[in-house]
Amino acid sequence: MHKNFKNIDKVVFGRGSFSEMEGILEQKRNENARFFLYVVDNYFKGKDLEKRLPAKPEDIVRFIDVDPHEPTTEQIDALRDEVMVTKGIPAGVVGIGGGSIMDIAKAISLMFTNEGSSELYQGLNLIKKPGIYHLGVPTISGTGAEVSMTAVLTGPVKKLGLKCDWTVFNQVILDPELIASVPVDKWLYTGMDTYIHCIESENGILNNAYSHAFADQSLKLCREIYLGGNAGQTPENDDKLMVASMMGGLSLTYSEVGVCHALSYGLSKILGEKHCYANCLAFQHLEDYYGEGVRELKQMLVQHNVTLPQGLSKTWSDETITAMAHVAYNLPHMWNHAIGTDWKEKVTIDTIKDLYRRL
Ligand code: NAD
Ligand code: ZN
Repeated sequence: MHKNFKNIDKVVFGRGSFSEMEGILEQKRNENARFFLYVVDNYFKGKDLEKRLPAKPEDIVRFIDVDPHEPTTEQIDALRDEVMVTKGIPAGVVGIGGGSIMDIAKAISLMFTNEGSSELYQGLNLIKKPGIYHLGVPTISGTGAEVSMTAVLTGPVKKLGLKCDWTVFNQVILDPELIASVPVDKWLYTGMDTYIHCIESENGILNNAYSHAFADQSLKLCREIYLGGNAGQTPENDDKLMVASMMGGLSLTYSEVGVCHALSYGLSKILGEKHCYANCLAFQHLEDYYGEGVRELKQMLVQHNVTLPQGLSKTWSDETITAMAHVAYNLPHMWNHAIGTDWKEKVTIDTIKDLYRRL
C-alpha cells in the first residue's frame, strides 16, 4: 500500500510571524465554548513571549514543564478532564514549545472529542472522531513533530503515538526568532533528530524519490547549520533549521526511521531518556548501519563542543537491557525498513541487546 497522508492545512513562515497568531485565532473563536486553551512550554513563563500571547480573559493558559519526562497519556487525560469540567470544549488548542508541547497540543485536541483515556488510542487510526482546531508554534526545531501525523505519548504499556489524519495541525506558525534562545546542547540534540530522520529515511527499503528529495534538502541544510565556517546559532541558520526540521519530518513520513529510532524508543520507555538525546546516544555507535552519517554527526558534536557519555551500559542490569530490547524489537516497521523484509532472520532480541551494550 502506498502512503496517503494529510499535510498541515496552513503554514506561516518568517521572522516575527508569531504576531500573526491573534488574527488567525479570531476566525476560529466562535467554535464550541468560545475559548482557547494555550499549552506553553514552562521555559517561557515570565519571559517576553508570555506578554506577547494573544490570550483573552476567557482563555486558559497552561504552562507545562516538559522536563524530565516526555508527555504521558495520564497527563493528557487529566488536563482534558479538568478543562472539560471547568469550561467545556475549547474552540481550539494552541501549542507553543518543542516536540513535547507539539504532541501535547495534538493529542489533547483529539481527546476533547474522543471518549475515555488517550491510552485507548495509541496506534494507527484508532481515533474515532475528528478533534478540535489546533495550532502549533515550535520553539525548538528538529523533531518534525510540527508536521507529523502522530502525537507521541508514553502510556502505562507503550510509548506510541495517536496517529491519524486528524492529528495533523490545522495551522503552524514558524517564527525562527523563537528558537534563538535554545541552549547549544539542546540545539544540537534536537537538530540531530532531523539529521537522523533523514539518514534513516534514506537508508532503507522504503526510501523513494519523494522522501529522498526532502531528506536531501534537509541534510544539506543540516550541514550548513552544524558544519563548517558558517555553522552555529545565527539568525540565518535558525531560519534554515526550522525548514530542515519540517523536511526531515516529511521525509520520514513517506519513508521510515530505522535502527537508531528503535533503540531510542527503548531508552525512552525504560530509562526515561528524552527522544533526541536518546537518539544521539544510540546513533554514535551505529557505524555498521549508518557509517558516513555517524562520522558526520561526530564531527558536528566536536565542532560545537558537545560530548556524549560513554560506557553507560556498564551500569545497566541484564534485565534493563532485555526490557529495552523488547521495546525496540516491537517496532517491526523500523526494522523492516532498515534491514529488509527478512529482518527477523537477521535481528533477534540478542542482537538488539548487543547493540545496547555498545552504549
Ligand atoms: P522538548 O519539547 O522536550 O523541549 C526540550 C527542551 O528545550 C526543554 O527543556 C524545553 O523547555 C526547552 N526549550 C524549548 N524551546 C526553547 C527555547 N526557545 N529556548 C530555550 N529552551 C527551550 O524537546 P524536543 O526535542 O523538541 O521534543 C521531544 C519530544 O518530541 C519527545 O517527547 C518525543 O517523543 C517527541 N517527538 C515527537 C515526534 C512526532 O512526530 N510527533 C517526533 C519526534 C519526537
Ligand atoms: Zn526522531
